[in-house]
Amino acid sequence: MLSSVLSLVVLLSATGAAAVERVEHDYYKYHPMPEITDWMAQVEKDHPDVVTVVEYGQTYEKRTISLLKIGLNTGEEKKAIWMDCGIHAREWIAPAFCQYFVRQILQAHKTDPKMQEMLKNLDFYVTPVLNMDGYIYTWKDNGTRLWRKNRSPGPSGCNCTGVDLNRNFNATWGTIGVSFDCCSNIYCGRQAASEPEAQAVTYFVGSRKEAFLCFLTIHSYGQLLLLPYGHPNFTASNYNELMEVGLGAADAIRRVHGMNYTVGTSPAVLYPNSGSSRDWARMLGIPFSYTFELRDKGTFGFELPEDQIQPACEEAYSGALHIITYAHDKTFSGAVATAAATLWTMLLAVGVTGNTLM
Ligand SMILES: [Zn+2]
Repeated sequence: MLSSVLSLVVLLSATGAAAVERVEHDYYKYHPMPEITDWMAQVEKDHPDVVTVVEYGQTYEKRTISLLKIGLNTGEEKKAIWMDCGIHAREWIAPAFCQYFVRQILQAHKTDPKMQEMLKNLDFYVTPVLNMDGYIYTWKDNGTRLWRKNRSPGPSGCNCTGVDLNRNFNATWGTIGVSFDCCSNIYCGRQAASEPEAQAVTYFVGSRKEAFLCFLTIHSYGQLLLLPYGHPNFTASNYNELMEVGLGAADAIRRVHGMNYTVGTSPAVLYPNSGSSRDWARMLGIPFSYTFELRDKGTFGFELPEDQIQPACEEAYSGALHIITYAHDKTFSGAVATAAATLWTMLLAVGVTGNTLM
């Protein structure tokens, strides 16, 4: 009798141990690709009502590119927000940010009425690592840590590997700030959208272009918010609004940990370039297209220490949310704003406002 009670106790404690064994994902560490893939599956499992893993392409090395679609299923046609991280392999803080961003919006979904409203009106499409082959290569050893491009072989006669995916999009492709030397870190490829990773984004976003309000592509480093266009001869039709919203995002960032982000077009604050996904998205008609260059300004560069992941993500989240909220409110509060403006005009007409007393 005593022994059977004891064995029952042993059995119960063993089950208890198994129940708590699940390892929590550490958002303040850098994770190799397999852990990020497992994390995506786990997020979907934990939030089946709001999260779906969507596969939408293949890398050169035949890995499946996938994103997390996050939003409430309302049965209505929804607007959308795009975010991709890790288009440049060595910019490890970017995939860390995408993971953090997903966790934050899922937490806010439970507590914050504004986020609940946005998840009803919007779907977030978040790709934690776009350049998976390159990212995996940077984890190989110390000699490969600073790899930037994808892993497709150069054209015949060239022994170098990789295309700069952020020079490969079909936006003034090959005109400025690129190299046609396949050994260069800014090699733009044989032709626009020659690379499977660029094709995947081009097809997925291009086939839903009316839905997207924002296209946010996350890089490091430099603490910049870059807006279209990379070619100095072209100006976005909504340049003033992009600047205003970008400066608002920089203010939001500064309020978190006091860090300064510079806002402007690529030629104005960094260097001219062509074939970027940001420019491609704006040319497609997506109004709010930005490149985030996260921390730092060069002290650690691409090798930002893990103890800066949390502050870097916290401030960038605040900046991203500023842009997303603006785009959301502009689209979905339009009716309310118009009604208020109409009322104001009527009050002015009948002389009820304070101004008429002066
Ligand atoms: Zn980059």
